[in-house]
Amino acid sequence: MNKIRILGTAAILLAAMFFQTYAQDDAVLLKRAEQLHREMFSIDTHNDAIVKYTHPWRPDAGDRTQVTFPKMKEGGLDAAIFAVFLAQGSRNKNAYDSVMAYTVKEIDFFKSFVAERSSEAGIAYRSSDFWPLKRKGKSIVMFALENAYGIGTEILNVERLYNLGVRVITLTHNFNNDVGDSSRDTVAEWNGLSPFGYKVVEEMNRLGMIVDVSHSSTETLYDCLEHSKAPIIASHSSVRAIKDIPRNLTDDEIRAIAAKGGLIQVATGRWCLSDLPREQVNISIFCDHVDHVRNLVGADYVGIGTDFDGGGGMVGFEDVSKMKYVTVELLRRGWPEEDIRKFWGENFLRVLREVEKISRQINL
Ligand SMILES: [Zn+2]
Repeated sequence: MNKIRILGTAAILLAAMFFQTYAQDDAVLLKRAEQLHREMFSIDTHNDAIVKYTHPWRPDAGDRTQVTFPKMKEGGLDAAIFAVFLAQGSRNKNAYDSVMAYTVKEIDFFKSFVAERSSEAGIAYRSSDFWPLKRKGKSIVMFALENAYGIGTEILNVERLYNLGVRVITLTHNFNNDVGDSSRDTVAEWNGLSPFGYKVVEEMNRLGMIVDVSHSSTETLYDCLEHSKAPIIASHSSVRAIKDIPRNLTDDEIRAIAAKGGLIQVATGRWCLSDLPREQVNISIFCDHVDHVRNLVGADYVGIGTDFDGGGGMVGFEDVSKMKYVTVELLRRGWPEEDIRKFWGENFLRVLREVEKISRQINL
C-alpha cells in the first residue's frame, strides 16, 4: 500500500517537473522570439485584408479582421503584402474596365486609410523603404494584385498597376484568365502562359514587379520560370508532398523556383496543410511544410504568406498577432537564428532587390 502511494506521488512529482520545465522552456523561447522580431525584418507576403476595410458592411469585418496594424505589432510582424483580390467574372472589355476601376478604388481607399494612420503605418514601394519604416516603428504595407484577370488584355494596365503602387501580381486565381492557366480550372486553355501572358511577364520584369505563381497551373509556373529574367515567387502556397491538392507545390516545382533564386512562401490555410480535423491543425503542422521546403532546397528559399482574410489561419494561429509563435516553434525545432532571419524577411528582400536590379538593367 505504502509502496503504491510512494510510486504514485513520485509519478505526480515527475509529471509536475516535466510540465514546469516545458512551460519554462516555452517562456524562454518566447522571449528569444520576441527579441529576434525586434531585431530582424519580417514580412508576410500575402493577405486579402484590404476588402475587409473597404467593405465594412461585410459580416466578417471589424474586429474579426485577421490583419490590423495593432495586431501586426503584437505579433512582431513588420510588413505585409496586402492584395486586392479580384473574383473572376466575364472576360470582356466592359468587365475588365470595371475590375480595373474597382482595383484603383480599393488601393486609393487603403492608401487614405494608411495616410490617416501615418504615425503607425507606412507604404513601401521599393526594397529600400522597408528598413527605414521599421526603424520608425511603423507597420509596413506593400500592395499586390491577386488575379491578373484585372489586366484584361491591355498591356498598359501593368504599368497603371505599377504606378498605383502594386509590386506583386498573382497571375491567376481559381480560373484560367487571359494571362495563363490556373491550377484549379478543369481544362487547360493555354497550356501555361498565353501569348499575352508572356508579354505581361516581360512588362513586369521591365517595371520591377514580382511575378507570383501561387494558384497557377504547373505549366504556367514553368513558363514563368523559363521566361522571367527575374526570380519568381509563390506568395502563398504549401507543400503537395504533405497535402496532395493541385493548389500546393510539388517538390519539382519547389526545386525549380529555388533554382532560379525565387521563393516558396508557405500558406497557413488549414485546408492546404492537412486532412486532420480543424482542432488538430496547428502551428507545428504549418512548420512541417516549412521544414519540408528547407530540407529540400535550403533556408534561402522559404518564407510565409499567411493568406489571412482569404482563408488563412488555424487554431493557435488565428490572426497576425500570433506570428511570433511560428518563431517559437522554429527555435524549438533547432533552427539557427540566421535561418529564421532569412525565413522572415531577408529572403524576400533579396528577391525584391534582384527584381529591381533586373528592371534597372532592362531600362538601361
Ligand atoms: Zn490566394
